[in-house]
Amino acid sequence: MLLCVSVGYLLYLLLRSLLVQMPLDPLGPTAISGYLAGVATLLAAVPGIRFRPLSYLLTAIFVPFGVWETVVMLQRGLQPTGAIGWTPLVFVLYFVVLGWRLALGVSLVSLVTMLGALIALGGGRGAALDGWLSMDMMLVVVTVTSALITRFVEGRLEHGQLASVQLEQARMDGLTGLMGRAAAETYLKEVLDAAMRDRLPLAFLICDIDNFKGVNDRYGHPVGDAVLKSAARRLRRHTGTQGRVARWGGEEFVVILPSVSKSEALVIAERLRRAFAAQDLAGLSVTASFGVAAYRSGEGFAELFERADQRLYEAKQNGRNTVRG
Ligand code: GH3
Ligand code: MG
Ligand code: MG
Repeated sequence: MLLCVSVGYLLYLLLRSLLVQMPLDPLGPTAISGYLAGVATLLAAVPGIRFRPLSYLLTAIFVPFGVWETVVMLQRGLQPTGAIGWTPLVFVLYFVVLGWRLALGVSLVSLVTMLGALIALGGGRGAALDGWLSMDMMLVVVTVTSALITRFVEGRLEHGQLASVQLEQARMDGLTGLMGRAAAETYLKEVLDAAMRDRLPLAFLICDIDNFKGVNDRYGHPVGDAVLKSAARRLRRHTGTQGRVARWGGEEFVVILPSVSKSEALVIAERLRRAFAAQDLAGLSVTASFGVAAYRSGEGFAELFERADQRLYEAKQNGRNTVRG
């Protein structure tokens, strides 16, 4: 925003001096405001610079200077061209600092005050007054309008970003913060395509907590929820960077392991099973069963999932707290 404003202002100064063919005094207020706008442009172009403090600083310098200059020049019977030169930048800074609603109010009040002062002090008459009124005020209106448009576009962009964040949240599991089922299916299809295309291995495992209904029945649903959260954390920690964990539903989780072979996946599943058995989850002793399957060339998501689910069933049949692949 500040970058756009400063570049716009520099262009405005250039256009102004070209149109009016005003000799530019290198120490005059218009030139100095040009230098400041140049500095602001450079600073805004540097990544990591915080705009707000900079805008506050510039506003704090410009506003009193502009008012002082207008008053002094009007008292001396001179045209306050310098102050008028500052006006667009000052107004735009209002927009940056105050937001468009407040800035619009402040700008209108300033404009009316300035015009009022000018008329009351009788500083400008005839052609000279018409000159700067038509030129500078038109440019003020143009600048304020462009600031409003910029605000509007920024607002739309922020709205779009917010919508995508909300979409992302909808794809997350609310309880555990893991990927939800829809996101996991999308991701799994992506990595399946990549495995097929690049002839890479891909492993998939399903983890189902043993006798979880008993936890709910004995300790209540909130404790069951705490166990699920704790299980999610443990799965994530012990999977590390080798794969991505998702909550498939209820007390069932899946781990998607791109570029991981079947034998490696069995090692990971065994590590996860032990991580459950070795330490309480939310103060309770809980175990889990695992079904592992590896991608076979040409097969789809349904076949891969079905095989892992079949292995999970075998693990449950085998007495639970077991890995099958
Ligand atoms: P098994 O060892 O065969 O897997 O037995 P299980 O009791 O774990 O399996 P079952 O499918 O019979 O029970 C799953 C239970 O999980 C039933 C349901 O009430 C509970 N559950 C599902 N979602 C949630 C949840 O979000 N929070 C809590 N607290 N419980 C849930
Ligand atoms: Mg279960
Ligand atoms: Mg289950």
